[in-house]
Amino acid sequence: MQPARCLNCEQTILPEQKFCSQCGQKTDIHRLDFHYLVHEAVHSITHADKSIFNLLAKLSYQPGHVARNFLAGKRKRFLSPLNFYLIIIGVFVFLLSTFKTFEQPTNFAAWRAGISQIKDPIERDRKLQKIDRSENAMKFMSKNSNLVNLLAATPLVSLIFFVFYRKRAYNFTEHLVSNFYFSGFAASVFMLLIAPVINIFQSTNVYLTGIACFLLFELLYRSIAYYQLMNIKGTRHYLYALFASFTAVICWILLSRWVINTYIETGFKSFF
Ligand SMILES: [Zn+2]
Repeated sequence: MQPARCLNCEQTILPEQKFCSQCGQKTDIHRLDFHYLVHEAVHSITHADKSIFNLLAKLSYQPGHVARNFLAGKRKRFLSPLNFYLIIIGVFVFLLSTFKTFEQPTNFAAWRAGISQIKDPIERDRKLQKIDRSENAMKFMSKNSNLVNLLAATPLVSLIFFVFYRKRAYNFTEHLVSNFYFSGFAASVFMLLIAPVINIFQSTNVYLTGIACFLLFELLYRSIAYYQLMNIKGTRHYLYALFASFTAVICWILLSRWVINTYIETGFKSFF
C-alpha cells in the first residue's frame, strides 16, 4: 500500500501519483533488501538510457547533439555531464595508481656530472637546483599529465570556446558543462586506446607518437562536437569550429609549457 505522505519530504501524495510532486521521489518505496542493492548496482551501470556505456557510444558520434540536448533541457536523458566527468576522473586516478606510467629516459646523472665541473659554487648550485626541478617536473608530468590535462585544460578550453562563440547564446557555464562531456570522452579514448599502447611499448618514439595522435584526435573531435553543438550547417562554420579547437590546443600547450618552464627556472620563488 502507498503511504499518504512522501517518505522523503512529507508532501501529501494522491493515490494515483507515482512520484512525489515536491521532491520527485518514487511513492512506491520498499524496505532495503539484497535485491535492491543488486538492482541499484546493475541499474546504475547498465540501465539502457542512463548507462555510461550508452553515453560513451553516443558521445563517439554525436557529442554536440548530446550536449545541446542537455543544455536545452533534456537533463534526464543521459548521465549528467558532471557525474560523467567525475567518474572518468575517478577511473583515471585508479589507473594511475595501479599501473606504472611510461617515463622518458633522461640521463640526469650525466647532466649533473657535467654541472659539477663548474668552478663558481653559486653558479653550480643554481644549475644543480634547476636539474632537480627538471627531474621533479618530468616525473610529475609523466605520471600526472593526463589528469592535469583533464582537470586544468577543460576550464581553459571552455573559456576559449566561450570567447570564440561569445555572440551565440551560451554562457561560460554552458560551455564548461558541454566540455565535461567532450573532455571526458577524449580522456576515455586516451585510457582505452592510447595509454595501453604507450605502456606496452615503453619507447620514447611510441610515447611521442601517441601524444601527437591524441592531440590530433582531440583537435578534430572537439571541432566536430562544437560544429554539432552550434547546429549551423556549412563548411565555413565547421572551419570556424576547427580554428577555435586549434587555438584551444595551442593555448593549452603554451600555458602548460610556460608553467613548467617557470617552475624549472625559478621554482616559483618569485611568486611567493
Ligand atoms: Zn517528496
